[in-house]
Amino acid sequence: MGFPTGRTEKLYLSHLHSDHFDGLGELMVGAWVGGSRTSPLPVAGPPGVAEITSGFNAAYRIDSTYRMAHHGPTVANPAGYGLAPEVIEVPAGPGGRAVLLDEGDLLITAFRVDHAPVEPAYGFRVDYKGRSAVFSGDTVYSEKLIEMARGADILFHEALHPEMVAAMSAAASEAGAAPLSKVFADILDYHASPVEAARSAQSAGTGRLVIYHIVPPLPSKLLYPYFLKGTGEVYSGPVNVAEDGQIYSLPASGGAPGPKLVPG
Ligand SMILES: [Zn+2]
Ligand SMILES: [Zn+2]
Repeated sequence: MGFPTGRTEKLYLSHLHSDHFDGLGELMVGAWVGGSRTSPLPVAGPPGVAEITSGFNAAYRIDSTYRMAHHGPTVANPAGYGLAPEVIEVPAGPGGRAVLLDEGDLLITAFRVDHAPVEPAYGFRVDYKGRSAVFSGDTVYSEKLIEMARGADILFHEALHPEMVAAMSAAASEAGAAPLSKVFADILDYHASPVEAARSAQSAGTGRLVIYHIVPPLPSKLLYPYFLKGTGEVYSGPVNVAEDGQIYSLPASGGAPGPKLVPG
């Protein structure tokens, strides 16, 4: 999508489910070579993050020797190869949060969400010059998230559509795919529904709701109205279904306009 991965300075992982880190290897290479890094790329995440980073470092080690041999140390500096873990600890209990970055006008805060049995799982709030965006990570409906999303300009909230996934579970069962049927049934209990995401946005008073981490994936925009059914009744602000390549900006002048697409 044309993002300048070479300018990546740091990465935050909300939790350690594979769908949230499986792109790390290529990002690591892009940041290393594209940015001519002289130190490993920091990756902050819940306890256990070091196991993930050392696994990627090992998996890409052979590839890194080819790149060093081919591009030379100015571009592929051996000292800049790899990922460096940092553990994010967020105190449990009400009010628990952790400031991850407080630099100039930029403030990034982590908080706990409920994605049991994934423990801990985090959401993030980013504040910059009076504008703010909150990322739910993966969670069920969460009062903690609502508290942290209070007054945010944009809430990016995950959602799973229970009826659609229940139908997939039944279809898999009928087709004799028992393990798949069980997976579809199991995941119902650790995600929020689109209506719950909308209820959270309303309670928190956020300026816009962007639903991401869409389950199941929607192959056509024709399904958006069905997926979003009921959200307009509980949330008075604008709602978007996130798509690859969308960029949401928060102009200093105010407002939370709809998405633009990455050029090209
Ligand atoms: Zn997850
Ligand atoms: Zn996920």
